[in-house]
Amino acid sequence: MSSVPEIFDTLSYGPAPEDASAVREWLAAQAGGFRLFIGGQWRSSLGDAPRIPCVNPASGEGLSSLTQSCAQDVHEAVACAQAAFASWSKSGYERARVLYALGRLIQKHSRFFAVLESLDNGKPIRETRDLDIPLAARHFTYHAGWAQLLERELPDHEPLGVVGQIVPWNFPLLMLAWKIAPALAAGNCIVLKPAEDTSLTALFFAGLCADAGVPPGVVNILTGDGRVGELIVQHPGIAKIAFTGSTEVGRLIRRSTAGSGKSLTLELGGKSPFVVLEDADLDAAVEGLIDAIWFNQGQVCCAGSRLIVEESVLAALVGKIKTRLTHVRIGDPLDKAIDMGALISPAHRERVERFVREAQAQGATLWQPEIPLPKQGAFYPPTLLTDVSPANIVWREEVFGPVLAATSFRTLPEAVELANNTRYGLAATLYTESINRALELAVKLKAGVVWINTTNQLDAACGFGGVRESGFGREGGLEGMLDYLRERDAWIGGAAQASTAQVSPPHSQKLRGPLARSGGLLAATLAADAPSEPAPAEPARGRIDRTFKNYIGGKQTRPDSGLSRPVQDARGRLAGWVANGNRKDIRDAVEAAFRAEKWATATAHLRSQILYYIAENLALRREELNAGLRRFTGRTAAQTRAEVDAAIARLFAYGGWADKYDGLVHTPPVRNIALAVPEPIGVIGIVCPDEAPLLAFISLLAPAMAMGNRCVIIPSERMPLPAMDLCQVLETSDVPAGVVNIVTGDRDELTETLAQHDQVDCVWYFGTNDGSARVEAWAAATVKRTWVSQGRRRDWMSARHGEGRAFLRQATQIKNIWLPYGDSA
Ligand code: NDP
Repeated sequence: MSSVPEIFDTLSYGPAPEDASAVREWLAAQAGGFRLFIGGQWRSSLGDAPRIPCVNPASGEGLSSLTQSCAQDVHEAVACAQAAFASWSKSGYERARVLYALGRLIQKHSRFFAVLESLDNGKPIRETRDLDIPLAARHFTYHAGWAQLLERELPDHEPLGVVGQIVPWNFPLLMLAWKIAPALAAGNCIVLKPAEDTSLTALFFAGLCADAGVPPGVVNILTGDGRVGELIVQHPGIAKIAFTGSTEVGRLIRRSTAGSGKSLTLELGGKSPFVVLEDADLDAAVEGLIDAIWFNQGQVCCAGSRLIVEESVLAALVGKIKTRLTHVRIGDPLDKAIDMGALISPAHRERVERFVREAQAQGATLWQPEIPLPKQGAFYPPTLLTDVSPANIVWREEVFGPVLAATSFRTLPEAVELANNTRYGLAATLYTESINRALELAVKLKAGVVWINTTNQLDAACGFGGVRESGFGREGGLEGMLDYLRERDAWIGGAAQASTAQVSPPHSQKLRGPLARSGGLLAATLAADAPSEPAPAEPARGRIDRTFKNYIGGKQTRPDSGLSRPVQDARGRLAGWVANGNRKDIRDAVEAAFRAEKWATATAHLRSQILYYIAENLALRREELNAGLRRFTGRTAAQTRAEVDAAIARLFAYGGWADKYDGLVHTPPVRNIALAVPEPIGVIGIVCPDEAPLLAFISLLAPAMAMGNRCVIIPSERMPLPAMDLCQVLETSDVPAGVVNIVTGDRDELTETLAQHDQVDCVWYFGTNDGSARVEAWAAATVKRTWVSQGRRRDWMSARHGEGRAFLRQATQIKNIWLPYGDSA
């Protein structure tokens, strides 16, 4: 043992092990391993799959064993949750009491949880004790408040039913809390699967549920591997899936839930940038990096794994990082004096090693501190890779280990370009002493969360979640609550009514007969597609009066195919021609929309003025639009006049909303403020329904525009002319080129290209149930956000269901920008 003078001399710490005896006793008492928590009871599986060993990754020691659930177990859990739903969803006050009790129980057992988590996962006790567990408790107490306030604050919303939740191994209890607390607050019941590598804290939590007064069946916990996750995802009794994990599995889940009507939130991988400007406090930036990439051994979805440093301070910062890393201590996770513990498993350590070897082979320079590493267990040293090019594997792929890849930049635009040059968009960190530059960059970075002069800050009041292939949906805050609720009575009909008014037939049935040349354009003869009155066998050619091209990049553009398609009026007579757009036209429209990115940063005031201007110009053409609508819909003058008037009023409404749908400022219990800013999503593809051909078109376009999105919009296939009439209005209303692009043609064909396009960030589809399923499946490739009608309709005439916050919410994504304040003690 070292003497006191020696310790003063070396300043080295002795071991400071946490007492694990209570946890070990509890583990020893689980004779035969853990069972499943279903309907408030511990049950054995109805299957006979082999048990799953629980292993401490820091030592290889066996801790216990888990049950591999089978399909019948999943079914039982869902049935219990369904049975519990009616009573659980009734009283917000009762739910608040239970959630608060859960928070208190986590606090009461906090040291037990912290030790158990460290043993099971390999993460340092300092982190579980000071971060994971207190934050988990905070999630329950925060959401207790929501449970009680919901009826008053969100009276038009209701819970979804049974929610399936699948969590990863990197923050086992914390991820459970992020999932369970808001879902319970909203009034849902739960079937949750923890990761097979780290299920122990979830099982201890299950044991506390009865003490907290959670009624049987409200929380069900099923252990097992990914196959159990798949069974939960596919179960028809589940109304929503909330998943945190890899982008690869997120994509599978998107595909497998497509068309099921299940709501979905995905919190996936990341490759988050950590940007350091030359005016930054470099020592603070180094401490930030320790928290960004070496915290939890780098096994953090939002880890700042790409360091982007202003060239003038690169050498200085790298020097400081190296000095700091030589003081990092790696060792027994239960030792209170260590900084880094073990990776989740030996297999994962090999994966990290492979990444590093490959990065070196691709030109990166490796540096690791010479610090002692335990001989046993899945330990890996903190690693710095410099000379990393943007094509290097460690720059592109999520390593999920303590590996930092560094590069430099010369100008701010270059920094933004490097930071955004990734398919992910979870989080970003900025270090600069200039508040002006910080906020300017924060807006430009494509990420769901931006930390300024701090990093990896998390709180229940502040939404967390990504953009692009980091997924969609938020956890925490108001936006997180909304993801566990649905609007009450917002839709009319359902899959069963999919064959009524708004539904267009499968496209193979739509175009019949030979293509005929007319007026220099090829024309397709449209079959009688359910007009409101019987159509004649052949369109009357003498009545052709109007021909429209596509509207792309601010002008009328001839379709790539050179083809037009006839449009019939309500009596089946030929009323005009529209472009027969194809995938090339959609691609051109997306390109035009992509280039119009200035719309996203135009002032809300300007967007508002332009919407008012469109409304005014539309009002000038009120009678003309009214006559057109009557002709196409066959409705009475009073009905069509009401639709035109509602369309004008809607534009006025969104002119009003454009500069009023603001964000929030959160004050989490650390010295930070977090600005929750609603940002435009980007390029939205909008597929309009056939009903209310003018009003539905405006009701979808206007909120998207108001929030700063650019749109590629496919109007009603059967009645596109009222929408095409708008092109002239748009041209005379100062709408910048490319903000609105309209392509007509075969709706299904056009939708496929739109939903699969890389540069389309989101698709709104108002059509059939089948069409909705296809859109969701196509969107899986790039993990696009979607809003689909599933064969239902909205009451477009109603201001409650046809406009407002629900639409604005679909047109935005919340970015949380964290700013610390104060530097006194
Ligand atoms: P996964 O995405 O495979 O696992 C996350 C959760 O999903 C686990 O509970 C897992 O079960 C479950 N699961 C696995 N397959 C399916 C499926 N087909 N359907 C439904 N659920 C499924 O992540 P891994 O644990 O395998 O880690 C792989 C990589 O993913 C990491 O190296 C890292 O890059 C990334 N990752 C990202 C996380 C994040 O927070 N963004 C978290 C964890 C990992 P089980 O573990 O029992 O197999």
